[in-house]
Amino acid sequence: MLKFTKIERPSTPREAYELLRSSKTARVIGGGLWMRLQHRAIPCVIDLSACGLDQIEESDDAFVIGAMTPLSALESHADFARATNGVFTAAVRDIVGPQFRNLATVGGSLYGRFGFSDVLCALLALECEVKFTGAGRMSLADLCEEGYPRDVLERVVVHRRPYQASYKCLRRQATDFPVVNVAAAYWGDEWHVAVGARPCRARLLTGSQLGLESKRPSREELARALEAVRTLPFGSNYLASAAYRRHVAGVLAVRAVCEAAGMEVPAPLEGRFEDEAKALGAEGAEE
Ligand SMILES: Cc1cc2nc3c(=O)[nH]c(=O)nc-3n(C[C@H](O)[C@H](O)[C@H](O)COP(=O)(O)OP(=O)(O)OC[C@H]3O[C@@H](n4cnc5c(N)ncnc54)[C@H](O)[C@@H]3O)c2cc1C
Repeated sequence: MLKFTKIERPSTPREAYELLRSSKTARVIGGGLWMRLQHRAIPCVIDLSACGLDQIEESDDAFVIGAMTPLSALESHADFARATNGVFTAAVRDIVGPQFRNLATVGGSLYGRFGFSDVLCALLALECEVKFTGAGRMSLADLCEEGYPRDVLERVVVHRRPYQASYKCLRRQATDFPVVNVAAAYWGDEWHVAVGARPCRARLLTGSQLGLESKRPSREELARALEAVRTLPFGSNYLASAAYRRHVAGVLAVRAVCEAAGMEVPAPLEGRFEDEAKALGAEGAEE
């Protein structure tokens, strides 16, 4: 069972940050849904619920999302969905259930950098920054790659771009952890493809790394992207083998890029996916 000796409820992110800095054993709590799975005693938790970080602000340039915003609030934000091609809504709709998503926060989801995270995978493909109280702003891609400071995550900034985007995920059944997830987005004249649940945390590949040059990629470009995604490291766990994940990640990436580009997957590629799936056979699920 998770136990807290003391709960602090500061009224500003700065106060929360000072509390965090004043004690090595203090921990920030978001929705607490992941933390509650732990069996330990935390001497001091810092609850951010009075810091005014549960709002989504919209300007001409960006959406500024408070770290304490519940997943459900962003999921059902019509302007955000319109501006991002609905990728976030698609990404989170199978996370446990509505009551759960009313409590789990955007900040807790990104700070945790969970390997399986649909939230991280979807936002990674967009132009997205995070703002910490102490460390200031950094790109979500840097946070994902390099880890995070011991700090208070205040806000997530999703810049407005003319996104063409799509989210694809494979789950054994609805509400399970994802086996593999992929987000593809075209913006800033190049493709951005995030691949998560490998089962380690999401990796972002962009334009030349993917071999994708055009907004409407040719079959050859898609074949290059398929190979690029499959060269990422994949691992095995109770949900699927590395070989199965590698296969599925490639398929989902090509389908996501094609959907975002508003085109069908070329028939020879779909045929190739079927042949590969047959060759993988029963090896798929367990290794
Ligand atoms: C049973 C279960 C199934 C799940 N399934 C999925 C799934 O399929 N897909 C998916 O994407 N996610 C899934 N999740 C993860 C979930 O969506 C949330 O990402 C997770 O619960 C963390 O959000 P939280 O608000 O509960 O964070 P918390 O549990 O409160 O915190 C998580 C971590 O982040 C730190 N933290 C929280 N907020 C801040 C902040 N503002 N600043 C600094 N540090 C902070 C905490 O100290 C802690 O280390 C699942 C979680 C559970 C428990």
